[in-house]
Amino acid sequence: MMTTGLKIIVLVKQVPVMSQVKFDVDRGKVDRSSADVEINPFDLNALEAAVQIKEKTGGSILAISMGPARAELALRDALARGADRALLLRDRKFAGADTLATSYTLASAIRQAEGFDLILTGEKTVDGDTGQVGPELAEHLDIPHIAHAYKLDVSDERLVAVCDMDGTSYTLEVGFPVLVTVTKDANTPRLSTFRDKVKARQVAVEVKSARELAAVADAAKFGAPGSPTWVHRVLIPSAEYRKGRIFTDSVDEAVAEIVTEVFRPYHR
Ligand SMILES: Cc1cc2nc3c(=O)[nH]c(=O)nc-3n(C[C@H](O)[C@H](O)[C@H](O)COP(=O)(O)OP(=O)(O)OC[C@H]3O[C@@H](n4cnc5c(N)ncnc54)[C@H](O)[C@@H]3O)c2cc1C
Repeated sequence: MMTTGLKIIVLVKQVPVMSQVKFDVDRGKVDRSSADVEINPFDLNALEAAVQIKEKTGGSILAISMGPARAELALRDALARGADRALLLRDRKFAGADTLATSYTLASAIRQAEGFDLILTGEKTVDGDTGQVGPELAEHLDIPHIAHAYKLDVSDERLVAVCDMDGTSYTLEVGFPVLVTVTKDANTPRLSTFRDKVKARQVAVEVKSARELAAVADAAKFGAPGSPTWVHRVLIPSAEYRKGRIFTDSVDEAVAEIVTEVFRPYHR
């Protein structure tokens, strides 16, 4: 693996520019047509981390996005910033996906790709903001994951990540394959030059549809039909309910507590 460098996949989501976006509070939706779009800022940190690792160890970077046709712009930006190849998962059947269906679809495409050592994602997006897609993707692929890494180093076929967990740092060392979610403190994403952008335009963005993933996936798990989440109400939690807590009881006890306590404000 290290003799030829790492095969790195970076996930890139196109998001609305949040300073412009409007919310449809009644329908519980973001009005995506109300704003310009850009690469999710945290994904730029993931991409920069990938480029720095590639500069050190060699290898290749594949950028993958699931989204509508215009998400190709985000992938072109990723190519200009150092990705070698780009794949867009585009199909009406992917629309309306929650995080479970999104991560399932991404996992299906990655199973079809030519292998990987490392998957890097942003720690979260600025629109959905769940931070669930990376860890869920690792579960679908049955590989370990490390969340909230702000320092990454690769040597001797091992990856060392320093992570931030609510102000406490911890260091983890793993082999490959592994998925890592990257915070904004990991690096300062480089800018692309005009020359980089012209070069990126010469690379074809590969597109895959639901039908093309069918060999490795259950199409019923794509998009809205594959999404068990439903939006009850959209609200901004009061400071009182924004406390963090680590549950150490059994899973059943923890789930029962979460349902009664954490969701209490949503049932008022
Ligand atoms: C019922 C329901 C319906 C929805 N319908 C729609 C809809 O019609 N259209 C819509 O745009 N959103 C829709 N959403 C929102 C959608 O679920 C999320 O945008 C998506 O699942 C990603 O979640 P997130 O933004 O919280 O990502 P996070 O988990 O916060 O993202 C973490 C990282 O995962 C990667 N990632 C996340 N999403 C993608 C992606 N699509 N492609 C590549 N990498 C990615 C990025 O690296 C990102 O930094 C819906 C949500 C629900 C609950």
